[in-house]
Amino acid sequence: QFIALDTNKCIRCRQCYEACTYFQCSDAIDFEDTPNLNTNCVSCGLCLDLCPTGALEERISAGKPGPFHYEQVKTFCPHCGCGCNLVLNIKGDKLFTVTTRTTAAPGYGHTCRQGRFDSFDYLSSPKRLKAPLLKKDGKLVEASWDEALERVATEFKRLHQEHGPSSLAAIGSPRATNEANYLLQKIFRAQLGCNNLDYPAGQSHRATLTGLAKTLGTGAMTSSLSEIEKAEVIFALGNLIEENNPIVATALRRANRTLGNRLITVSSTEVELGRFAEPAFIIPKENKLDFLQSLIKLLLELNLYDKDFVAANTNGIETLEKSLAQVDHLETVARADILPSTFEEIVRALATASSVAFVYSEDLTADANGARKVEAIANLAMLTGRLGQPQSGIYPLYRHINAQGAMDMGMSPSCYPGHVSVSDLQGNDRFSNVWSGQLPDSPGFSYRETIESAHQKKVKGLFLMGENPIATEPEREKIQEGLKQVEFLVVQDMFLTQSGELADVVLPSTGFTEQEGTLTNTERRTQKLRPALTAPDGPLPDWRILADLLNRLDTGASYTDAQSVYQEIITVVPFYEGLTYDRLEEGGLQWPYTEKNSSGMLTLDDLKKPLEFAVAD
Ligand code: SF4
Ligand code: SF4
Repeated sequence: QFIALDTNKCIRCRQCYEACTYFQCSDAIDFEDTPNLNTNCVSCGLCLDLCPTGALEERISAGKPGPFHYEQVKTFCPHCGCGCNLVLNIKGDKLFTVTTRTTAAPGYGHTCRQGRFDSFDYLSSPKRLKAPLLKKDGKLVEASWDEALERVATEFKRLHQEHGPSSLAAIGSPRATNEANYLLQKIFRAQLGCNNLDYPAGQSHRATLTGLAKTLGTGAMTSSLSEIEKAEVIFALGNLIEENNPIVATALRRANRTLGNRLITVSSTEVELGRFAEPAFIIPKENKLDFLQSLIKLLLELNLYDKDFVAANTNGIETLEKSLAQVDHLETVARADILPSTFEEIVRALATASSVAFVYSEDLTADANGARKVEAIANLAMLTGRLGQPQSGIYPLYRHINAQGAMDMGMSPSCYPGHVSVSDLQGNDRFSNVWSGQLPDSPGFSYRETIESAHQKKVKGLFLMGENPIATEPEREKIQEGLKQVEFLVVQDMFLTQSGELADVVLPSTGFTEQEGTLTNTERRTQKLRPALTAPDGPLPDWRILADLLNRLDTGASYTDAQSVYQEIITVVPFYEGLTYDRLEEGGLQWPYTEKNSSGMLTLDDLKKPLEFAVAD
């Protein structure tokens, strides 16, 4: 579909074969005299970049033959939490091809199909909204921005006055920019006095944030995506690494096949990566916590833990040991049909390898035990001394491009920007001063509680930004019914979605390549968006819509551009302080960026002292 092969141009250099077999590890090129693409091809595009003669070429529907001289705009892929670097090749106002830079993280010249070929078709859809919509006489009709935003401000103020702050809620998005999430939570906290802020995947993401913050002091990936494949042992948990984060799945295959490192997978269903794993454990979802705790227990029983690291850097090993009294690893292995000798060998590998990467996809944390599983992974990393060193570490993989950023920006019922608890008195004082408003100090509704409260008609005013939960989340009918009960519903989106059809006001936003802003990927890398294509008349950038709304609620607020919002962010989120706008120019930076540590890895100095083992029950 995307790749044209002309074997007449092939000079038999075999570069495509080598790349597909040993770098992409897809085995999609059979090479006898010339290459032949088989059905394993996942359209990553790597062979296109390497073919020196154009025997393999991208199909371009340009209407006329090239060569073309493009304007090139550096950006990154919005389709998963990795945010691989991309270059948009534009002619006029049309996007022709997408390429990638070998010198820039993330990806270093490699993407998956979504980044390379699927990226931005939706931008030219005729279904895009062209103007705000207001519900009049039961129908959505076009209106001016002034009328639409005035209606939103007036209705939220009225509901606040009549029913109090807890009658209001906002659902942000891990796909929207840092600036948009920051402004949305600021409007609801500082102007409307409520912490009812979340997004549909928030609970699963916060399991990582809270689990790692409790044990390590920082709720994020401890090293960089590019380090994972270098670890001697990669312990990969979860079912969705290939589906959610394709470039990481490729790195894990490559680690095993090309670099000779060991991959161990733990999933609850068979996964493609299992073909590369030694062994590939299948553990039912409900037994994964027990599985992790059994590894810890055996590690301690065999006295294999890193005593120097534990003595120098941690607290609470005795309490951890006591809390594992009820864990029976023999029962665990019997239930999972694993040989005890295999289980012990894994424990020895985790303890003795020169480096270990603990990697997990976000489905691992999507249940009530999510934070406890993250704590168990952190316990394992501490016991084996895998923190503060490159290659080793804990690597949570988020599905959404700005999941880390949304949490960093305070799109959470329990945390302000910078992961500061809303119940922390000092934090509450600090943000009350910065935002000149009295802030609530108890956690608000989570996403689920918001939908539940909408059903019960307790949430009367709801702002939905960039999410369409009726289409994307489980229990669609329940969500639909909940949204119907909301007295005043606002939806901000590029399209008229199912959720938008129920709204009282729909605010049209611009797309990813049409606006400025920043996003923070799964490795804590904040990258800068550049407007590459001209937005159609009508829609506005997310941050602009919210800045205008804030201005109607607080006449003191004034943001002139996305950079001015970002400037405020780096003053209120201490670990963003070093990530100044100009420093983000070349591929972005990972927080916390300091003169002392610009490597992207969290050193032991960046983590809490001492690190704290979490008890097992
Ligand atoms: S596009 Fe990727 S998967 Fe397909 S043949 Fe080329 S290198 Fe292999
Ligand atoms: S791995 Fe993720 S970020 Fe990279 S190109 Fe694919 S979808 Fe985009």
